[in-house]
Amino acid sequence: MNVNVVCPHCLKVNRIPKKESYAKANCGSCKNSLLESKPVAVDAEKLSIFLANSDIPVVVDFWAPWCGPCLQMAPAYEEAALAMPLQAQFLKVNTEEQQTLGSQYRIESIPTLILFKATKEVERVSGALSTGRLQNWVKQYL
Ligand SMILES: [Zn+2]
Repeated sequence: MNVNVVCPHCLKVNRIPKKESYAKANCGSCKNSLLESKPVAVDAEKLSIFLANSDIPVVVDFWAPWCGPCLQMAPAYEEAALAMPLQAQFLKVNTEEQQTLGSQYRIESIPTLILFKATKEVERVSGALSTGRLQNWVKQYL
């Protein structure tokens, strides 16, 4: 089975075989590694590209620089993202810069995490999660 993923470097869609884990995977367009799975900061346009073209779950962290719990959770979020390359796509939305997205998704408190599958919101959680809880939450939807 093949899945579509979006290259975090050039945003081109790649079709790759679905596997439990990957030793190597490079973008067919820009040749950079698709396994570099640090959370990607997105605006509305980039978010729509990831949502429309990802067969894997897309997790979005809605945060803001003035939010203490958001900053505290950031390393755990990055750790979870790095542990799950090509299993799930981790994104970040700075709600201070992207206020339209914050209201579009009715973000009432931050951090709020929303998990999307096939462009649809599947579940959201508010409040900071540890790396382990984050991974377990996402793994339910792989
Ligand atoms: Zn690329």
